Amino acid sequence: MTNDEKMCKMSLAHEITSAIQDTIGRKSAVLHEPKFSGNESKYVQECLDSTFVSSVGKFVDNFEKDLADYTGAKHVVAVTNGTVALHMALLMAGVESEDEVLVPALTFVATANSVKHCGAVPHFVDSEESTLGINPDSLREYLRTATEQRSSYCVNRCTGKRIRAIVPVHIFGHPCRLEELLLVAKDFNLVIIEDAAESLGSFYQGQHTGTFGLLGTLSFNGNKTITTGGGGAILTDNSELAKRAKHLTTTAKIVHRWEYIHDEVGYNYRMPNINAALGCAQLEQLPEFLASKRRLFERYQEALRDIAGISLFTEPEGSQSNYWLQALLLDDSVANQRDSILEATNSAGLMTRPLWTLLHKLTPFQGCPHAPLPVAESLEKRIINLPSSAGLV
Ligand SMILES: *Cc1c(COP(=O)(O)O)cnc(C)c1O
Repeated sequence: MTNDEKMCKMSLAHEITSAIQDTIGRKSAVLHEPKFSGNESKYVQECLDSTFVSSVGKFVDNFEKDLADYTGAKHVVAVTNGTVALHMALLMAGVESEDEVLVPALTFVATANSVKHCGAVPHFVDSEESTLGINPDSLREYLRTATEQRSSYCVNRCTGKRIRAIVPVHIFGHPCRLEELLLVAKDFNLVIIEDAAESLGSFYQGQHTGTFGLLGTLSFNGNKTITTGGGGAILTDNSELAKRAKHLTTTAKIVHRWEYIHDEVGYNYRMPNINAALGCAQLEQLPEFLASKRRLFERYQEALRDIAGISLFTEPEGSQSNYWLQALLLDDSVANQRDSILEATNSAGLMTRPLWTLLHKLTPFQGCPHAPLPVAESLEKRIINLPSSAGLV
């Protein structure tokens, strides 16, 4: 590297650092922190006073009802986190041990973990630059060559295993092309389970994400748009599946005034009432959080506009994103400066992060089948998440 090139690198990293600091009006910031500015203390205290802090209570019922109203899902089952929400949703969809499930290589590890928790195998597919989600066109092409239909099941020609479902993920809150993905699913006899962990408050063609597939899931971890401490939810319009999800997540106990009868091996995944109390207060502030996040996006965009070689990821056309995590996209020409940007921003006290390591490269998923992943491989080298908390602006 010549000295000129070194100077150039320094300046891009420092230019970005200053632009972020100017935008948020402070020197340092974490990647994402929750904001508790509403009825949190009041509801949590009320929950303590009631003594119903655990798996039954009015806050769980209220939180489920409020989520159903907001998302438009007919049924909501609140659970302990987003990972188990996905695990349960996959079981509800009929995913069995040894089945394969199509998931993007470009997602948080929990998406693939939940497939493994069913005893099934994640089968990784490519993403697209316009949405950061699964590319329905390359998926269709891939399935056309890599699978065949056997007695109305989609079977992987190489492994001979049944492929049961597709799990689209709305990365950083940006909706995938659901309409096209639903068509692929229909044509190949696959079920869609949406991982909407990152996309509460995101809409595709006016409809809330997580309500397009047979089931969808949300997360309320501390770093998500709203939090219950830890928590998640299953969304579905299917009353049978909703009933079964509630049964299975509450130790599969048959309702009876005093007898303990459990009709299958159940799970203890019900969201505690005290977490739901926090959730009810957070959900009241969701519109305000969403407005702040959009404002932050607009300010970042303004500040970064004139810096060559980079762009801020913008919601796909026809969609409304919650802008959960702001994402800087580096052009190929400056992709080699990713680490110097991470270095400069983090040294300055700004918590920025690269994209997750693509999942097919991680030890627990070695040997899992995958499609060609050229776009995911490219995005992995070119994305940096910026401080994104709703409290920043
Ligand atoms: C956060 C997240 C999850 C898991 O949620 P937890 O509540 O942390 O278990 C699943 N998928 C994606 C894409 C996520 O970002």
